[in-house]
Amino acid sequence: MPFIIDQKLCVGCGSCIGNCLNRAIIRRGNQVLITDMCCDCGICKHYCGMDAISMGPTKAELNNIKLDKALKEKLALTRDIVAMKFADKVPEGVVEEDGLNFWCHICGDIFQGQGSPLYFTAKNSTCGGSLALGLGARSIDRDSFNAMVEITTGQGGYFASQDLFTKGRSLFPQFPKVYGGLILGSLAQMKMPDMVLFPLNGKQMCMLSTAYAFDTGEVMTGNAGAGTCLGMVTIPFLENKPVFSCGDNGGRLHMQLRDEEILVCIPYRLVSGIVKNLDKTVFAHE
Ligand code: SF4
Ligand code: SF4
Repeated sequence: MPFIIDQKLCVGCGSCIGNCLNRAIIRRGNQVLITDMCCDCGICKHYCGMDAISMGPTKAELNNIKLDKALKEKLALTRDIVAMKFADKVPEGVVEEDGLNFWCHICGDIFQGQGSPLYFTAKNSTCGGSLALGLGARSIDRDSFNAMVEITTGQGGYFASQDLFTKGRSLFPQFPKVYGGLILGSLAQMKMPDMVLFPLNGKQMCMLSTAYAFDTGEVMTGNAGAGTCLGMVTIPFLENKPVFSCGDNGGRLHMQLRDEEILVCIPYRLVSGIVKNLDKTVFAHE
């Protein structure tokens, strides 16, 4: 537990609990405690009028090479892990995508080991996924737009009508702004990403969600029937909650997912705690 509470100073007011984005502060009996879900952000310290919160002897693990290795080993993952980070301009040393591509296709390449970070923007997006990713829409002419609507709705599409497509999209949180781009790369090659994304099977998902629930008491929720990008990115980024999804047909094809695989996306700041907790749950006895 990176940050700690001095029990002699704490009066149990709970002000810190509601202000921890990671849900890392809990009540246990008469005590308020910080769990291993703490990511060292230090926010809670500013809400404690008793000055009872301070940095503890250990730190959250923010070394992505170590986190990547630990996640793969503890969950027996067979693919690489995608890390994503929003940025309004291309960071130094990151390659800018120069052609048209699909977000899901880039993720699929990273799962297969092609993990050098690249900068993806709306102008690179072949489909309307850039809108779902908070990057805005690529300008296309009316005929191309109509053709896209025809492919995605009606007989043989994803929704019976464009209205239903819009309704499905409205069930997800809305980005407060349009971001310049999204950096996509393997976790081991990225610094301080916003989210991590990877495929896993039912048993691995059970292990992961148990590790998350262990210290938070919260369940991971999933969605099915929405676009892969929409279902995977909005909730982790905007609500700081992990989410799982089966993705959509096109996304599954581009990501080269096996039939038994689903996807999980986790806010980066929760990963260190989940990795620690993977050693504590019922699965640690196996
Ligand atoms: S995650 Fe941040 S707010 Fe939560 S306990 Fe740790 S330092 Fe405090
Ligand atoms: S804000 Fe301070 S005094 Fe109040 S419960 Fe948290 S640690 Fe204790």
